[in-house]
Amino acid sequence: MDTKSLSRIAYFSMEYGLNSDFKTYAGGLGILAGDYLKGAKDMNLPLVGIGIKWKQGYGEQMIDKNGHPFDAYHNYTYDFLKDTGVKVSVKIRDIDVFCKVWKCDNFGNNPIYLLDTDIPENSEAWITGQLYGWFGEERIAQEIVLGIGGIRALRALQIPTDVYHFNEGHADFAAIELIREKMTCGYSFEESWKLTKNEVVFTTHTPIVQGNESHSIDKLEFMGAFNGLTKEQMILIGGDPFNMTVAGLRLARKSNAVAQLHAETANKMWQNISGTSEIIGITNAVHKGTWVDSRITDAYNENVDLLSVHKEIKIDLINFIKERTGITLDADKLLIGFSRRAAPYKRSDLIFRKPDIIDPLLKSGQIQIVFSGKAHPLDDVGKEIVANLVAMMKKYPNAVVFLENYDMNIGRMLTRGSDIWLNNPRRPLEASGTSGMKAAMNGVLNCSILDGWWPEACKDGINGWQFGDGASCTDGVDTAEDLKKLDQHDCDALYDTLLNRVIPTYYEDKNKWSEMMHESIKSCSEYFGVERMLTEYYEKLYINK
Ligand SMILES: *Cc1c(COP(=O)(O)O)cnc(C)c1O
Repeated sequence: MDTKSLSRIAYFSMEYGLNSDFKTYAGGLGILAGDYLKGAKDMNLPLVGIGIKWKQGYGEQMIDKNGHPFDAYHNYTYDFLKDTGVKVSVKIRDIDVFCKVWKCDNFGNNPIYLLDTDIPENSEAWITGQLYGWFGEERIAQEIVLGIGGIRALRALQIPTDVYHFNEGHADFAAIELIREKMTCGYSFEESWKLTKNEVVFTTHTPIVQGNESHSIDKLEFMGAFNGLTKEQMILIGGDPFNMTVAGLRLARKSNAVAQLHAETANKMWQNISGTSEIIGITNAVHKGTWVDSRITDAYNENVDLLSVHKEIKIDLINFIKERTGITLDADKLLIGFSRRAAPYKRSDLIFRKPDIIDPLLKSGQIQIVFSGKAHPLDDVGKEIVANLVAMMKKYPNAVVFLENYDMNIGRMLTRGSDIWLNNPRRPLEASGTSGMKAAMNGVLNCSILDGWWPEACKDGINGWQFGDGASCTDGVDTAEDLKKLDQHDCDALYDTLLNRVIPTYYEDKNKWSEMMHESIKSCSEYFGVERMLTEYYEKLYINK
């Protein structure tokens, strides 16, 4: 791409996963945003990030003596952030809240500007305290800071911007500010909305109906999110209750979902909502420099035996697990990696559902499984899932491991050192999933339901495995009975693939395994790298035609 003629982008995101110690991320959305900025830097694209400087971040999640997860919060300070000297203010509950703007310029020409309310001027310093810590008024306050504060920061910093990109609905209020700016210049509401639409693009991330945040319109008014607009105007944008995804889709000239299957799902999901923009599919990708072990890349490029290099990396993982848990895994036995946020649709426990099948495999040491993943701090069901995994670790010592406090470091170790990467969500509820891409590029073979990104990459039995043959649920319509059936079907398919394809290949056909690793790296490294993704964003979403 000729970078000089490109639109100048301001990318808004609630979270950025840049490295393990910079606690400004919670999960996949943030990892994507972090990789996005890193890719923009590598490609020298005209793009800056807008986000929040979280005082405590998402919090740590540890396991107590009884095997239950609990959350711990610490205050963090970062000496690499620069004070821009800029402060902007937003009105929240009719009080002026000041936002100090920090600059994270580890990304050269692609700095991230982080807003911070934890300054002496504010009695409301807590707003930027905990990432996703709250759901109601506090979340709205955070979104006012990100959106309205973010636009004001761009103005104060005099950063010219052609396109405002909202990574999920958290940033919607930025468009309310863009509309207000235009109305102040004398345009009508309708004209201002139309002009704003011309400069906003939107990425939707969740195919789960309840996962799409909404707020009562009165609460938005009380919090100050109307920002000068009327109730009727706000309802035109987001409905009542005000749905942040619907609003994003109506405020943007064009939107995207994060995989091709997700685009189908998202279009179906919102088909009865009027005034929404087109939703195209731009499949997520990962930043290779962050996630791929250079030893495996070198071995691949030099045509050196991948198995022996992978074993070195696997032993690093085994040592890491030993340090963290005291458990010693066996480098000659199949090691299955699984790390995901603990949410019911991700079915972390699927592999345990038929003890008569799984028990002998674990007890004989034919398979070993390493889990990691946090539950949302307010999600008791998710915490129960984590507790169950910890119970399995006790039941199968030396065969099942749960690593507490999932973060980028654990993610990196697991997606490099495992032999296979398991993913078994209820299709089509996983929007994309990027951990499988990290694994694939490291020669860690995906063994996954055909959900998210995997249908685009999977050559069954050649670069990994699929199971379940695309059986799906229909979110919002399924009965408990339907879900039970789907789970049973997928569970049987998982066992069939493990017992009849994965395990025999691993133990009896090392050549084929090595070829599959090669094929996995070859078929996934380029397509699922950030360069392809960013090029698509520029060519399909940022260009206004
Ligand atoms: C890669 C990564 C994710 C996203 O992976 P999914 O496949 O979407 O679950 C989330 N958290 C961490 C720490 C990661 O490294």
